[in-house]
Amino acid sequence: MDFYVTLSPGLEKISKREIEEFGGKIREVREGKGRIFFNGDLYLIPKINYFSRTIKRLNILLHKEKIPNISLEDVYDRVYNIDWTDYIKESQSFAIRPLRIGEHNFTSIDIGRVAGEALIKSYQKDKNVRLKVNLDYPDVIVRVEVVFDELIVGIDTTGDTALDKRGYRVFNHPAHIDSTIASSLIYLSDWKDDEILLDPMCGSGTIPIEGALIKRNIPPGKFREKKYGFIFVNMFGEDLLNEVKKEVVEKENYYNIIGLDKNQKYLEGAKENAKSAGVLDTIKFVCGDATKLQDLFDSVDVIIVNPPYGIRMGSKRMVKKLYNEFLMSAKNIMHGNSRLIVITGEDRLFKEAVIKSNLEIKEEFNIMFGGLMTKVFYLTL
Ligand code: SAM
Repeated sequence: MDFYVTLSPGLEKISKREIEEFGGKIREVREGKGRIFFNGDLYLIPKINYFSRTIKRLNILLHKEKIPNISLEDVYDRVYNIDWTDYIKESQSFAIRPLRIGEHNFTSIDIGRVAGEALIKSYQKDKNVRLKVNLDYPDVIVRVEVVFDELIVGIDTTGDTALDKRGYRVFNHPAHIDSTIASSLIYLSDWKDDEILLDPMCGSGTIPIEGALIKRNIPPGKFREKKYGFIFVNMFGEDLLNEVKKEVVEKENYYNIIGLDKNQKYLEGAKENAKSAGVLDTIKFVCGDATKLQDLFDSVDVIIVNPPYGIRMGSKRMVKKLYNEFLMSAKNIMHGNSRLIVITGEDRLFKEAVIKSNLEIKEEFNIMFGGLMTKVFYLTL
């Protein structure tokens, strides 16, 4: 079976590793585009939807083709020629979710309309049944995407609510980080079992909570299932999901995680989120100042942080001062093997602070996060 996933552009190498661990065979990685194409067996569907921590959505790939000067007739033709009877039952409704990127003389609404007509006609030809369309609560979601001169048609196994919506969040921080990015940064740090993980500006706790879920082997699907369900169950039944759930072996408490923030209100929210994720007993939440870390800690192995950028919170001047003071302070609690990973939308100011601090940049790359280009810095002493 052919598949493709979507994820935050920039994190492809981390998601690629995750897909390979699930048993997928990589076909194509679109670096910086947030897409990976691969193939594998049917069990990848429940596995990725239930266990993945870095992927946003898994689609079954039905058609992928470069068509120069692509037209709506091409879209109709390719959708019509797919055998839809394998994926949609006669009694089921469907919705086309169209996407269009680039210059074309048609809109995404046109793609949705034409693809919908083609699918209905194709099904009628094969089964003599006219399928129902339900745009709000479809049984099956079909993705039809025209990206420049490429057409991609797939079945969405995840549903309208992508996998970064974990289902445990009860408190919303105004600038919280995407959970799949948080997990990806933790994977990037190569955090080991006996190492201390600190997020010194943890806000609503996303990074420590994702860390706790990773170390305790708690699948993100556990929370999603209750809140959003899984659309692939409509196509393949509960058994497929139940089969992979048997693989879950949660681990006991894991105490090496600390979440720090100077704002008590956010810390209370972080505790609510951690409680909802079942890991409140796993994280130590501390009220304190990220520019005075040496007053609180002797030595920390991994620091992962998403500081304010001055866009949603705080002014540029304050951010510059914070970056300088934070890095100077972090240096005091780092040892030869400590890793410091920072994601910020204010990369120019941050880089200036890194240069001043004399920390070494091991890696630096862009991630698209909520329509904003952000940068990840991987630093060591
Ligand atoms: N990653 C968090 C989440 O998912 O909710 C959001 C972090 S938010 C972008 C930045 C946080 O840094 C805010 O919660 C703010 O209170 C905190 N902060 C700013 N200056 C700080 C300082 N000097 N010490 C500790 N926390 C600080």
